[in-house]
Amino acid sequence: MELSPFPVEIITLYSILCKFAIGFSTLCMNEFIDTHSHLYDAAFDEDFDHAVSRARKQGVVKCIFPAIDSSSYEAMAGRSDALPDFAFPCIGLHPTSVADNWEEEMTFVRSKIKERKFYAVGEIGIDEYWSKDFLPQQKRVFAEQIELAAEYNLPIIIHSREATEDIFNTLEETKGIPVKGTFHAFSGSYETYKRILTFGDFKIGIGGVLTYKNAGIASVLEKMSMDDIVLETDCPWLTPAPFRGKRNESSYIAIIAEKVSQIKNVPLHDVALKTTCSAQQLFNLHDS
Ligand SMILES: [Zn+2]
Repeated sequence: MELSPFPVEIITLYSILCKFAIGFSTLCMNEFIDTHSHLYDAAFDEDFDHAVSRARKQGVVKCIFPAIDSSSYEAMAGRSDALPDFAFPCIGLHPTSVADNWEEEMTFVRSKIKERKFYAVGEIGIDEYWSKDFLPQQKRVFAEQIELAAEYNLPIIIHSREATEDIFNTLEETKGIPVKGTFHAFSGSYETYKRILTFGDFKIGIGGVLTYKNAGIASVLEKMSMDDIVLETDCPWLTPAPFRGKRNESSYIAIIAEKVSQIKNVPLHDVALKTTCSAQQLFNLHDS
């Protein structure tokens, strides 16, 4: 038997102090929620587990996985089921996936939403940048999914690209239906931000674009309330500086949070606390 050179009391005291120190560092660590992560994308097929552990190391405790369409559903649901404490799946039809088969895709959304728990209907919205070929259908699909979200009492995740007015028109037409959610990858003006808030309990998704030189969103963020924003990466896209041009991942949420802290002139810890609290509430993650 090996004898320790230290008396048993010292060893006990040391182990108590260690446990306290670990608990304290956990308490102090900034916790983030990536409210828009496509970690289930094929871009992570080779190193999904590593991307998740890198995110966890940076304090990312939860990720919302927005849906695109039926073709990416299995990857999205499969990878979130594998990490039930970390990844939270959504259901919806993305505006750039609205095509000839939009009715089949909507049938798919309506059948899946009955089958299991989702945390939001998204991402949904209107995209006039890629194509306007199916614009009337995009508007209809967006409106139908706003109704669906209300029926299931879920928040929505809005994708809006060169479509602000049409998004507002649809929200105007569906007024009366209670809506809440995020306005993802926001890059609008202060006036647009204020207008969004008139439609319901909306949070503004702030991502990597904030770190780009001359990003207009920086001056708008200065005037926004910290209560109105949540953090998101939209990985593997919209990579923040200094990694712009490379693949984005959820661990980079820390870079975005740091930039918010600089622009808003508030401690990083406050950015983490506020945005995480807002995301927990909006996506109802408290018991998860
Ligand atoms: Zn997205």
